[in-house]
Amino acid sequence: MTNLAIQIKGLTKIYPPDNRAVDTLDLEIKEGEIMALLGPNGAGKSTTIRAASTLCGFDEGSVVVAGFDVDTHSLEVRQAIGVVAQQTGIDYFLTGRENMVLQGHLYRMKKADINDRVAELASYFELDNSIDNLVSTYSGGMRRKLDIACALIHRPKVLFLDEPTLGLDIKNRKILWTHIDKLNKEFGLTILLTTHYLEEADNLSHQVAIINNGKVQVVDTPDALKNSIHGDSITVTFDDVGKNEQAFFHFAQQQSYIKGSTWEDNKLHLYVEDGGANVAALMAVAADNKAQITNLSLSRPTLDDVFLKYTGSSISDTREEEGDEWWKQWAGKGGNTGKWKNQWGANDSDAEEGGEDQAWKNSDWAKNSDNNENLGTQKREEAQSQQDAWPSGQQQWPDKEESHNPSGEQGSQQWDQSQQGDWQNNEWNKNKDGGEK
Ligand code: ADP
Repeated sequence: MTNLAIQIKGLTKIYPPDNRAVDTLDLEIKEGEIMALLGPNGAGKSTTIRAASTLCGFDEGSVVVAGFDVDTHSLEVRQAIGVVAQQTGIDYFLTGRENMVLQGHLYRMKKADINDRVAELASYFELDNSIDNLVSTYSGGMRRKLDIACALIHRPKVLFLDEPTLGLDIKNRKILWTHIDKLNKEFGLTILLTTHYLEEADNLSHQVAIINNGKVQVVDTPDALKNSIHGDSITVTFDDVGKNEQAFFHFAQQQSYIKGSTWEDNKLHLYVEDGGANVAALMAVAADNKAQITNLSLSRPTLDDVFLKYTGSSISDTREEEGDEWWKQWAGKGGNTGKWKNQWGANDSDAEEGGEDQAWKNSDWAKNSDNNENLGTQKREEAQSQQDAWPSGQQQWPDKEESHNPSGEQGSQQWDQSQQGDWQNNEWNKNKDGGEK
């Protein structure tokens, strides 16, 4: 039987006067597993991580990490875990090495062991050449790698990562994924991470737990979660939801091919059996009711559809953006401006750094980065931004063969009737024979 690395039962944390940030939450993570916690802002993800990593107390329930109860054996838990919080703990006015040595001393490690471990981790994260530079000269991606390296100095068994790639560009996000993936595969590290990036959860984790209102709504593998949504996903956007649009919704629901629906402001998400074949019939219902549709997209269900089902909102609406770090604000008296601007600006060359990372170069993500495979929502966003257009004057929907996304279940296609373009030459049509992008 596989041992549990983390077992949370009935965890409840109440912030005064009566905010149940976490509410009788149950969660189990097996040894050697990566679990992603997904949820809207304020769902209770960070509080769960803080409670499990001994950083905050809680009101009810029990949490056992690496075999130790966090309530009664917090010191043992701290020896067994590494934590990378959202607000980084590294000191920007020390070098990378000095930060790691400091961290080693905090764990009361022997000097020789610290030196060995710093060399090992610097090499692992490909920071060897910059380890003696001030952290203030590091790019965002390098700082994140140093953050994780510091959390691993004492060889923990369990790693907590709170939004590990927040604020990084897609390339640096993927570089970090390769390192996180390697840590799990090569060292059997159990990892509990929170993220707002669905592709991160999809690509990295064995299990995904969706949290809302302080409770776990569902836990399963990413594939099982996506497969739990039946049918294709058709998203219909209206300028305004008036009487005609409501009537369209009413009659659409009565069609046998409609398997489910969710409203999200002026967007209607419909789960449709054989979406490609039935989109024309659905448009006929819209025309009958004079519903004004401004946009329609068809895709295989993604984790975002699962997220929407359990939280009532799309994850893209809940994304947080990182502000300037406190030290930039402090040193520059206002962040990325004034006399410090050039210094910070000069070192924010994340994209360049991406090109040099060997772990990244050897990863499947790098190999696939040109064809955008496995990008999930990212791919959908890119496809949507390209706005593959509906040809001028064409008033019929493509037949089933053309309508299905041939590039895999996570892709999507969008038709925007307000756009003009060349249907024959667009990416969607070029791939209609089933070729991979
Ligand atoms: P998430 O990480 O999912 O965004 P959090 O765990 O940070 O959610 O927050 C859950 C709830 O607890 C929110 O309503 C938040 O405002 C509240 N909360 C979090 N930390 C504190 C705190 N230190 N004091 C008071 N309320 C807090």
